[in-house]
Amino acid sequence: MPKWKLTTEFTFDSAHYIKDYDGPCGRMHGHTYKVHIEATSSQLHSSEYCPHSVMVADFKTLRWAKQDVTKGGLDHCILNEVLPPEYETTAEMIAKYIYDQTKKQVPVGVQLKVRVSETPNSWVEYED
Ligand SMILES: [Zn+2]
Repeated sequence: MPKWKLTTEFTFDSAHYIKDYDGPCGRMHGHTYKVHIEATSSQLHSSEYCPHSVMVADFKTLRWAKQDVTKGGLDHCILNEVLPPEYETTAEMIAKYIYDQTKKQVPVGVQLKVRVSETPNSWVEYED
């Protein structure tokens, strides 16, 4: 079966704190979050912006979180105020949040993997 894997990477800058964390992560601070998304599909699709079945998913759709918070993204916000309360603001749960929100917007059958890093040398990956 043919398979396409689309990869995109972007960053956003935001503040957060880990609730009840006994240490510096419990105080509000900021990160340049780096997000790496892989979208895999065995068929191509049209998108909101293109009527022809020529893409796994639209890059514009995959990169929604890069937008300013006032435009629906996660840039320049306090993540604790933007993420629903069931998501703590650990990299693990930010990855799940981005996965869940992206999954709703991509065509059925597109597999996603979302990687989030807060620092250059550690990251977490989430897929379902
Ligand atoms: Zn942090």
